Amino acid sequence: MNETMTQDTLCVQGGWQPKNGEARVLPIYQSTTFKYETSEQMGRLFDLEENGYFYTRLANPTNDAVAAKICALEGGAAAMLTSSGQAANMYALLNICSAGDHVVSSATIYGGTSNLLTVTLARFGISCTLVDPDAGEEELNKAFRPNTRAMFGETIANPALVVLDLEKFARIAHDHGVPLIVDNTFATPINCRPFQWGADIVTHSTTKYMDGHAMCVGGCIVDSGNFDWEAHKDKYPGLTTPDESYHGVIYTQKFGKGAYITKATAQLMRDMGSIQSPQNAFLLNVGLETLHLRMPRHCENAGKVAEFLKAREDVDWICYPGLKGDKYYDRAMKYMPNGTCGVISFGLKGGREAAARFMDRLKLAAIVTHVADARTSVLHPASHTHRQLNDQQLQEAGVDPSMIRLSVGIENAEDIIRDLEQALG
Ligand SMILES: *Cc1c(COP(=O)(O)O)cnc(C)c1O
Repeated sequence: MNETMTQDTLCVQGGWQPKNGEARVLPIYQSTTFKYETSEQMGRLFDLEENGYFYTRLANPTNDAVAAKICALEGGAAAMLTSSGQAANMYALLNICSAGDHVVSSATIYGGTSNLLTVTLARFGISCTLVDPDAGEEELNKAFRPNTRAMFGETIANPALVVLDLEKFARIAHDHGVPLIVDNTFATPINCRPFQWGADIVTHSTTKYMDGHAMCVGGCIVDSGNFDWEAHKDKYPGLTTPDESYHGVIYTQKFGKGAYITKATAQLMRDMGSIQSPQNAFLLNVGLETLHLRMPRHCENAGKVAEFLKAREDVDWICYPGLKGDKYYDRAMKYMPNGTCGVISFGLKGGREAAARFMDRLKLAAIVTHVADARTSVLHPASHTHRQLNDQQLQEAGVDPSMIRLSVGIENAEDIIRDLEQALG
């Protein structure tokens, strides 16, 4: 059924497919554990010899149904939910990187991910080279080393709003025999499906548009099943040689296109345990049911707000990839012709101080550490999410110290603009 449904229908009906007499609405399996008749069957489950649930840290039916919906929306082969977007990116990388390995990543990424890559994973012995995503192919090629195991980027960077040249990144990653991992949080599969452009693995902070109502922190990893781990066997022994912690199972041989997600579940989720609670997965699913309705409205409203800001004298600069004349407009039209996202960044002529004064005067738009929910919200990255970076690091991450990150909600666009107008004074 999932294969023939359009995105709209998948949002509403994908994932949970009730059989005769079962609950119409996705049930919350609020249970840590699952009962079996024989000890022998439970043993087979532990050996991955049989499919089934036994402990919610490893798998839960509510979570699996929601992961299946996101998997179908992305056009992937397998998916798993995680407790947060941070956990999703961490597992996506740790699943194929060990101490001594290296990652090439776009420098314009979410602050938390940048910190994960350059500070925390470095402590695990995994090094990272940050690259200017708009650099030429020759320069990007130079960032690769024999021990590089993945290339990473964001479809639309948070908060720099750089649109990734997905085809270029995929081509370069594949030339070096590594997968391209793309964080598709801002575009969502409604506006962009990175697998169509060659990405191999997609991650999400479901906390943002997917949930859409600022209710639950969550994440998801989707695997396209397209990367040929066996063809690069020497680089990915974890997937292509026996896993002694699972009685010698070889993930690629036993699970085919499900190898990457099965390994991430069987090893990383088992040992690190960043599971999403089934209650949160249920709420995420309610959010997903309207994703196809909300995304166009976010984009429509953001387009109107961007036009308004662009015409203001006191606005120094504005970035919105959906705005004609934006540096990334043409690329956005190629990769996401139906819309980009609801997030706009801009700076006022008065810099940091003017930003703070403006934000304090907003009434409808709220100052919150969040983006991408139904309510319009605003944040000053240099003072908030990126405050650990110095001015040079801010510039490298594509964050001007004057940058205001405005996440346009799905209220009435004229009301939002009136609020901005009175706050600008
Ligand atoms: C918010 C965000 C994250 C981190 O997600 P959490 O759910 O907050 O852990 C990762 N990547 C991007 C692009 C984000 O916007």
